[in-house]
Amino acid sequence: MGGGATMTVSTDMETKLVAAAREAGQHAYAPYSDYHVGAALLFEDGAIITGSNVENASYGLALCAETIAVSRAFGEGRRGGLQAVAITGPADKGDGSPITPCGRCRQVLNEIAQLGGTDPMVLCVGKDETRRVALSELLPHAFGPAHLNSGLK
Ligand SMILES: [Zn+2]
Repeated sequence: MGGGATMTVSTDMETKLVAAAREAGQHAYAPYSDYHVGAALLFEDGAIITGSNVENASYGLALCAETIAVSRAFGEGRRGGLQAVAITGPADKGDGSPITPCGRCRQVLNEIAQLGGTDPMVLCVGKDETRRVALSELLPHAFGPAHLNSGLK
């Protein structure tokens, strides 16, 4: 598993996916950082599953938008088929550079991607630029389910 060709999506679908991530970001629970993040996962059947970050009064327990989205996908029974991911952050924070998934989220995304043998395109949305990076570029030489049991479902 893994090592497949990087997925590509149409410009229209990219626009739709980014809009879904932005919409999800509006539902972020981020009262402490006020850093609202949205993530949208596109699957090969056209389904889009979103997530937004969820913080906690015990700061260290915060959950990222990507992790929430992947958890929702698993909860719906999905095991692979991940084609693309869009991630959006607040337009008025930081330097406006494209937002990239944190290290933990790269690993979390890799799990569902490797189960289906895809290398999803990750759309990292910034203020003026969207960076398109393959997950395998964000997390090279990834440790994943194939290392444990290729038959995991
Ligand atoms: Zn993260």
